Amino acid sequence: MLTFRDFLAALRRLEIERSFPVIVHSSLSAFGHVQGGAETLLGALMGSFQTIVMPTFTYKTMIIPELGPENNACRYGSGMVSNQLAEIYRPNLPADRLMGIVPETLRRRTNAQRSNHPVLSFSGLNASEALSAQSLDEPLAPLHALRLAGGWVLLMGVNHTVNTSIHYAERLAGRKQFVRWSLISDGVVEFEGFPGCSDGFEAIAPHLKEITRQVVIGPAQIIAVPLEGLVKVVGSRLAADPLALLCANPDCERCNAVRSDQILKNEQLN
Ligand SMILES: [Zn+2]
Repeated sequence: MLTFRDFLAALRRLEIERSFPVIVHSSLSAFGHVQGGAETLLGALMGSFQTIVMPTFTYKTMIIPELGPENNACRYGSGMVSNQLAEIYRPNLPADRLMGIVPETLRRRTNAQRSNHPVLSFSGLNASEALSAQSLDEPLAPLHALRLAGGWVLLMGVNHTVNTSIHYAERLAGRKQFVRWSLISDGVVEFEGFPGCSDGFEAIAPHLKEITRQVVIGPAQIIAVPLEGLVKVVGSRLAADPLALLCANPDCERCNAVRSDQILKNEQLN
C-alpha cells in the first residue's frame, strides 16, 4: 500500500523546483492501493509544487451537427441519438470519467479554479494566469503559458497517450486541428483548435529520453518532461516526418484526416 509519504518522496526524487508549474495526467488505479486515494496523490502534489494544472475535459457536451467543414473527421448527421444525451456545459460540470478521479478531486477543491472552455477546460491551483490564457478557439493556450513559466509535464501511472502537451506541440508545428461543437446554455457553440488523436503518442518516448526523468513508485512510474524540451522534440520529430505520432488504426478518422491534409500540403509545395 502506498502512502502520502511515498508519493512525496517520489516527487522529490524528480528534483523539479517547486516554483515550476506542473501539468499533471494521472491514473490513481495504476498505483494499486493508495491510502487516502486521490486526496493523497493530490496532497503530495500540493506539497511539492506551487502551481498544479490538470485537464478537466467534458466531452459529454459535444454535439454532432448536420453539416460542417470538409476533412474534419466528423460524421455529420450521425448524432441523432448522442446529441440527445449531450449535457449542457456549466462551470461545475464534473470532468469526464476518462480523465481519472484525480482531476475531478482537484476541481472540487474550494481553492481550485477552472478555465471556461465548454469541452477542453483545465482546473488548477495557483494557476489563474495560465487558466485565463484560454479562449474558445485556443483551448491549449494554458499549456503555452505553463511552458513560458518553465512548466513540466507529469505522467503519473500513465503514458504519453494522454499527454495533452503533445497536442499543443502538434498545433505549434502546424498539424491539422479540428472544428467541433458543444452545447452551452445559449445553444450550440462552434470552436476550432480541437486536437487530433493521441493513440500514437507513446512513439515519442524514445526521442524524449534525454530530457525525461522517471521514478518508480509501487507498481507504477512517474514520468516528468519539461514542456520546453517536449515542444522542441515534437517539433523536430514532425519536421522530419509529418506523419509521425499518428496511430496505427486504419479506421482512425482524425489520423486519416491529418494524412489527407498532409497530401494537400505536399501538393501545394510542389
Ligand atoms: Zn488515430
